[in-house]
Amino acid sequence: MNTVAIIGAGLCGATAAAKLVQAGFEVTVFDKGRSAGGRMSSKRTGSGYLDMGAQYFTARSADFQHQVQLWLEAGCAQEWSCSTASLASDGVSASLQASPDQQTRFIGVPSQQSPVKFLLADIPLRTGCRIEKLHRVETEWTLTSDNGEQYSGFDHIVLTMPPVQTEHLLAQSGLSELFVAPTSVLEPCWAVAVQAEGAVPGHAIFCEHPRLRFISHQESKPGRKSCYVLHFNATFSQDNLEQAAEFWFNEARDILSNDLGLEGAVEDVVAHRWLYASQNDEWTPSGLVSLPEHNIWIGGDWSLGGTVENAYLSGLNLATAVIGNNSAIAASE
Ligand SMILES: Cc1cc2nc3c(=O)[nH]c(=O)nc-3n(C[C@H](O)[C@H](O)[C@H](O)COP(=O)(O)OP(=O)(O)OC[C@H]3O[C@@H](n4cnc5c(N)ncnc54)[C@H](O)[C@@H]3O)c2cc1C
Repeated sequence: MNTVAIIGAGLCGATAAAKLVQAGFEVTVFDKGRSAGGRMSSKRTGSGYLDMGAQYFTARSADFQHQVQLWLEAGCAQEWSCSTASLASDGVSASLQASPDQQTRFIGVPSQQSPVKFLLADIPLRTGCRIEKLHRVETEWTLTSDNGEQYSGFDHIVLTMPPVQTEHLLAQSGLSELFVAPTSVLEPCWAVAVQAEGAVPGHAIFCEHPRLRFISHQESKPGRKSCYVLHFNATFSQDNLEQAAEFWFNEARDILSNDLGLEGAVEDVVAHRWLYASQNDEWTPSGLVSLPEHNIWIGGDWSLGGTVENAYLSGLNLATAVIGNNSAIAASE
C-alpha cells in the first residue's frame, strides 16, 4: 500500500509528496501546467521573472517557519525587504500613504516557484499532464490524462487542486457523490503587469479600492523584471471575467495615472486571469477530506484558509492522513 499519485504540483502537492517520500512511499506527481508551482507562479521574461500569482508569503506556524528556514539555507527563498503602503480610493479620489509594519515577508528566488521545485527535486513529476479520469480496479487506481495516456498501479490518490477542479475530476470519474465543491471558496483575480516610468512610495501596496486589492512593485525583488503588478479584486474581476487583456491594460493605465500619479509612458507586459485565486474571507475552512474506503485524500490551501502557508500545512496534513491510514491497516493485519 505504498504507491501514491498526487494531482497538483502546487505547494500543497509538493509538500505532501516530499513528506510521503521521506516516509518511504513511492510518489508520482501530476500537473497540467508547464512546470511545478501552481499559484506560486512567476512568468519568465527576457529581463527577469514576473510574479503573477502569490506576491509573498508569511510564516506563522512552527512547522512552516522550519520549512522556510530550510529554503533560506538552500537559497531558494529570501526575505522580501519591501516598504508597504496603502491606497485608499472611493472611486473619485485616491490617496496613497506609506504604512510601515513589522511583518516579515518572504519570496521564492529566483522565482516564486523555486521553493516548490526544491521540495520536488528528485520526485517523479509529470507536467503538461491534465488528469481527466480516475478509475479503480480492486485496490489499484489508474489515472487517464487529457491525451489518453494511462498511469496505473497507485494505491492512494491525493488531490490538491482547487475545489471546483476536484469536483469536476471526480464527476468525470463517476465519483460525484464523493465531493461537492463549496461555492465561491476561491475567487477569481485578474493580474496585470505593466512597466511604468517613475516610482511611488511602497513596494507592497494594500488597496481599499473599488477595483483593486494589491499592487506590487517588483523592482525590490531580486531576479524580477521591474514592473508594477496589479491584482484586481474579486468583485471587479468576476464582473469583467471575460474581458480581453486590452481592457485590463487600460484599467491598469487608468489607475497608475489617476490614482498613483504616474504620468510617464506605460508599457503593457502581461495580463493573466486566475479563475481560482484567493479565498473568500467569508468561507470557513473545512479541513481536508479523507475517504479511506477509496484511498482518496483531498486538500489544498482552501481546506485551511487559502494562503501559501496553509497550502504547506494542508500538504503536511494530507501526508499524515495517508501515512496514518497505512499504519492502521498494517496494525490490523
Ligand atoms: C493572484 C494571486 C495572489 C495571491 N497572493 C498571495 C499572497 O500574497 N500570499 C499568500 O500567502 N498567498 C497568496 N495567494 C494564494 C497562494 O498562491 C495559494 O494559497 C497557494 O499557492 C495554493 O497552493 P496549492 O498547492 O494549494 O494550490 P495550487 O497552487 O493551485 O496547485 C494546484 C495545482 O493543481 C493543478 N491541477 C488542477 N487541476 C489539475 C488536473 N486535472 N490535472 C493535473 N493538474 C491539475 C494546477 O495546475 C495547480 O498547479 C495568491 C494567489 C493568487 C492567484
